[in-house]
Amino acid sequence: MADIYINYGTDLQDMTFSLMEAAGIKNRLKPAMRIGIKPNLVVSRSADGGATTHPEIVEGIIRYIQAAGIHNIAILEGSWVGDNTQRAFNNCGYSELAKKYGVRLIDTKQDRSVKIKHDELLLNVCESALNVDYLINVPVLKGHCQTGMTCCIKNLKGCIPDSEKRRFHTMGLFKPIAALGNVLRPALHIVDSICGDLSFEEGGNPVTANRIMLGFDPVLLDSYGAQLMGFAPDEIEYLRLAKEYGAGEYADADTKILELNADNRPKTDIRQSSIIKKLSKHIEADGACSACFAALVYALDKTGGVQGERFKIGQGFKGKTCGGIGVGNCTAGCGSYVKGCPPKASDIVEWIKRKRGRIS
Ligand code: SF4
Repeated sequence: MADIYINYGTDLQDMTFSLMEAAGIKNRLKPAMRIGIKPNLVVSRSADGGATTHPEIVEGIIRYIQAAGIHNIAILEGSWVGDNTQRAFNNCGYSELAKKYGVRLIDTKQDRSVKIKHDELLLNVCESALNVDYLINVPVLKGHCQTGMTCCIKNLKGCIPDSEKRRFHTMGLFKPIAALGNVLRPALHIVDSICGDLSFEEGGNPVTANRIMLGFDPVLLDSYGAQLMGFAPDEIEYLRLAKEYGAGEYADADTKILELNADNRPKTDIRQSSIIKKLSKHIEADGACSACFAALVYALDKTGGVQGERFKIGQGFKGKTCGGIGVGNCTAGCGSYVKGCPPKASDIVEWIKRKRGRIS
């Protein structure tokens, strides 16, 4: 059994179904179970903007669960304080999805809450998230202006009332988020890393990675996601605290990662926002896989790159000897390159820092 299952591609429903199959999720389900699915619908904007969970992924989950003979399924979410969940359900394709599969939609903003103690904190958590037998968290891996990044743990904020969301900010955000990640433990996490935003949770600058990940430990998945985005896990304060509280472990060299289709990664097809267009000027791409390209975009956004250098990336460089600097194993023929297939943005960031140190 792997710790993290990864699938690359553009057929999101089938990718999700295959991931669940590979991880043997059926063996963990029982016919009478009440299933809750928690996507990220923080705002009422379609998933291609990089903020919200693709409905096709949730559709893949529903199909898989119903094929296992389980039909008591609800999708639950509460958008951020400034938005309306029902509008998000409608605009993001979830109302249609619910109708098609006979699934209930629960707006957690309308829900009652239960007080749960975590050390010195008393957290209010929505009943609907607690009253299921199997909670499936379906976050988006993306940037966040206050916390650096958001994925599994922070997505659980949709399971608390609006008044509690406001209170979290008065409590400094990091501690209550980490505590929530420790008291509310979804059984399964399926991460939408299709085109998460570069730096804002409300989207606008999607970075295409065409990747879905599945795992059971939210700290493990978040720390792995942080590295994919160019962070060391300890740089994400709520993650450091969640680990300290015992919510899970960081991903490291011993983490077992199973890529279902490593040989069939789609090539990048970046919808370029102005920020990403600007960063792309530092890149010389030839047949780059989306996940590889995304790692480089995140690293360039964090570091600004190396002055006067363009990074070679992509399968077009495979087996070629060339000068300059490369990213990914395909560019092993460059004078110097960052290893990985795909590499993590955190490795590219470190590499750029070392390179700059040598230059200055
Ligand atoms: S190193 Fe090459 S094959 Fe591997 S992810 Fe990057 S572009 Fe794709």
